[in-house]
Amino acid sequence: MTTAPDPDAQTRVAVAVETPQHSGVNATLDYLSEQPLAPGTMVRVPLGKRTVLGIVWPAAAGEAPEASLRPVTEVLDGLPALPEAWCRLVTFASGYYQRSIGELALAVLPPELHKLDRAGFAQRLARLRKALDSARPAAAADTPPPPSEAQATLLGQLAALEPGRTVLLHGVTGSGKTEVYLRAAEATLAAGRQVLVLVPEINLTPQLEARFAARFAGRRLVTLHSALTPVQRLRHWLTAQLGEADLVLGTRMAVFAPLPRLGLVVVDEEHDPSYKQQEGARYSARDLAVYRGRLEQATVLLGSATPSLESWQRAQDGRYLKLALPQRIGGGSLPRVRLVDMSQQPRQTTIAAPLVEAIRERIARGEQSLVFLNRRGYAPVLHCTDCGWKSGCPHCSAWRVFHKLDRSLRCHHCGLAERVPRACPECGNLDIAPIGRGTERLEEQLAGLLAGPDGRAVRIARIDADSTRGKGALEARLDSVHAGDVDVLVGTQMVTKGHDFRRITLVAAVAPDAALFSSDFRAAERLFALLMQAAGRAGRDADQAAASEMWVQTWHPRHPLYEALRRHDFEAFAASQLRERESAGLPPFSHLAMLRADAKTAAAAREFLEAAAAAAEPLDSAAAVTLYPPVPLTVARVADVERLQMLVECAARPALQRFLAEWLPQLIALRRRSGHAILRWAVDVDPLSI
Ligand code: ADP
Ligand code: ZN
Ligand code: ZN
Repeated sequence: MTTAPDPDAQTRVAVAVETPQHSGVNATLDYLSEQPLAPGTMVRVPLGKRTVLGIVWPAAAGEAPEASLRPVTEVLDGLPALPEAWCRLVTFASGYYQRSIGELALAVLPPELHKLDRAGFAQRLARLRKALDSARPAAAADTPPPPSEAQATLLGQLAALEPGRTVLLHGVTGSGKTEVYLRAAEATLAAGRQVLVLVPEINLTPQLEARFAARFAGRRLVTLHSALTPVQRLRHWLTAQLGEADLVLGTRMAVFAPLPRLGLVVVDEEHDPSYKQQEGARYSARDLAVYRGRLEQATVLLGSATPSLESWQRAQDGRYLKLALPQRIGGGSLPRVRLVDMSQQPRQTTIAAPLVEAIRERIARGEQSLVFLNRRGYAPVLHCTDCGWKSGCPHCSAWRVFHKLDRSLRCHHCGLAERVPRACPECGNLDIAPIGRGTERLEEQLAGLLAGPDGRAVRIARIDADSTRGKGALEARLDSVHAGDVDVLVGTQMVTKGHDFRRITLVAAVAPDAALFSSDFRAAERLFALLMQAAGRAGRDADQAAASEMWVQTWHPRHPLYEALRRHDFEAFAASQLRERESAGLPPFSHLAMLRADAKTAAAAREFLEAAAAAAEPLDSAAAVTLYPPVPLTVARVADVERLQMLVECAARPALQRFLAEWLPQLIALRRRSGHAILRWAVDVDPLSI
């Protein structure tokens, strides 16, 4: 029975709307509604002069006098309210990452939703419902291979797990992790629940999507990532929220996909830094997935060949269940690692002769090689041999990179691109020369070194951000590699991730040493993961595995990192890194936050950070934390903005959280007082790059 609404009885509702953290509004806003609205209901409400999207929030409404409140404009109905667990996840994330609830909640909704009024929304929903009804996916799934003994044992352990647990699945590439994800997903779907699969990069979604789609042909699978059109993204999101999607596969944003019956979350390549959002609310999708699993009683499966040391330590502590797949499927061996001692090579060697020879042999046998270098462009800097001029960027504290193909000097930080000057802009000298090398130059050098005696060219394909800019360019290049139309693949670390190359039997890292001496304490961990992952590209075909090799050109062949790599020994590497971290008091043995400030001048940024440190002093919670002096970022100036940061360190996570919660209002007030001197500031909790 419905009663006619009493025109005078208005319900007060708390609504999350998009208000930036820095505006100081840290909670929800109250509105009046003629009917009670369930938490999680999407509404449109007035905010200033605009009407904006909002979410009715499960929070107590405030005390403000009713006369000062404005009514809800309209309700976006026809959709179930967002699940309570979704609101709790957002509330947790906003508290943990120190952003306002409204900012976070509205930022993780599909952008298209913000544009729709009630009528527009109803129309979209009706269209989607019709499409969902008429297009039941066909049921002709592929037949899964019987699980290996190791997989069967592991699946048994997974099935016996109490709900809400996190499992760290450690297994080298090709050990059958994905097959375990598929089997675990099957069990979850059979129990009537939904599956969320996270991958680090958009480029990797089509491949995994195809594998899941083939296995679950009778099920509904949707993707969520930034390469979807706004309309697609809204449709996929709505499909999940309606409970119509059995599986959601996506990048970090998908961790916020509303799934009313979530039963399993898979985080593939859980160590990958892409899981950390680098702007706005700087959340870690991996860490939120773990939280979400507990919240929704879903199993969380973190998979990697080189787990993050944070996850590894938690597994050691027993907080995660550690399961391993120690062998490649089919018993294929991992590539033999060969270290080339560059100090024993002739001066100016770019690619050592034995490596060139090994690549030649591969070509003769019709096999492929992959050579990678972490810098795109031709050379990182142009320089005048006379006066010493270098191709610096006028707007950044960085060199502009020489791109030979289009004869441009490009800044990889601010994007400034200019034609290469004919002569030195300082002294007019015509002899300006490239120093160092990027992937373009590496490609050129390889072509020269590998050309046959008859001058016959080898087929080289380059894959990096430059060569794959056009739509479909990456796919086209990958296809030609898969088809065998390429002998040597050259690229940045982009090529080392995930791709299932069948004919590659040699992988080479030509200059990986820089990371050994980086000031970022995670550089070694990242390098190890990168090299292991790259090694995993070789010998994926078990027949060729025995003959496959990973080459590393290094000036430090006896470095413990390379020693561990040679034995494919992640555990030894992790143990030695964790010992170092423990004695240095670094994560996971301490917890960090970074306060960053951007300003027109370095002095203004420094002043803000110093004032922030002074503001922390009187706080009770400050006793537990250490504040370090402000330092410039590695590239301090980008597009004429000076960037400084200040590290906050604390032995315990809750103590750090308490401090940040007390400190933030001080920072907001400080920013207000400093006026326009500061362009931006942000707190990054659990920062990934230091
Ligand atoms: P990972 O995700 O660890 O790299 P995959 O699950 O992709 O490993 O497995 C590597 C290869 O082995 C794939 O081609 C996969 O189809 C195959 N594979 C996995 N499990 C089995 C199995 N139980 N029996 C036969 N082949 C398998
Ligand atoms: Zn000059
Ligand atoms: Zn620049």
